[in-house]
Amino acid sequence: MLLYTHLLFSLMIAVITKLDPLMMIIGAALPDIDNPDSIIGQLFKKLSEKIYENYNHRGLTHSIIFALPLMVIPSLGIGVLTHVLLDLMTKSGVQLLYPSKTRYVLFGGTLITGTHDMIASIACIMVMILC
Ligand SMILES: [Zn+2]
Repeated sequence: MLLYTHLLFSLMIAVITKLDPLMMIIGAALPDIDNPDSIIGQLFKKLSEKIYENYNHRGLTHSIIFALPLMVIPSLGIGVLTHVLLDLMTKSGVQLLYPSKTRYVLFGGTLITGTHDMIASIACIMVMILC
């Protein structure tokens, strides 16, 4: 999924749960640091390239062992999990139980990055308006 979808989804969860929206947004952006082409990857290019070379995209930073230590700041850790949840619903899936190479997919990977982002984002905005 695209960055704006991850941010809006995490913001929606923050509105519903009353968690810290800034930490949720930071957490939601963080996993894609493993992709040098992503916006956060471009901001931290060298680090992003190292992570990508060593752990691949949707590997370590999209796993439980990455999210768990970040739970010391609950909003940050949950923000990461909102990102992982959305990516789990795409065809590519994520290595949720890294270092296991198995890629997990939810709901048959029906979300298509770039195609369903706008629909998911509008749904998130509508939920936030209703809350
Ligand atoms: Zn991702």
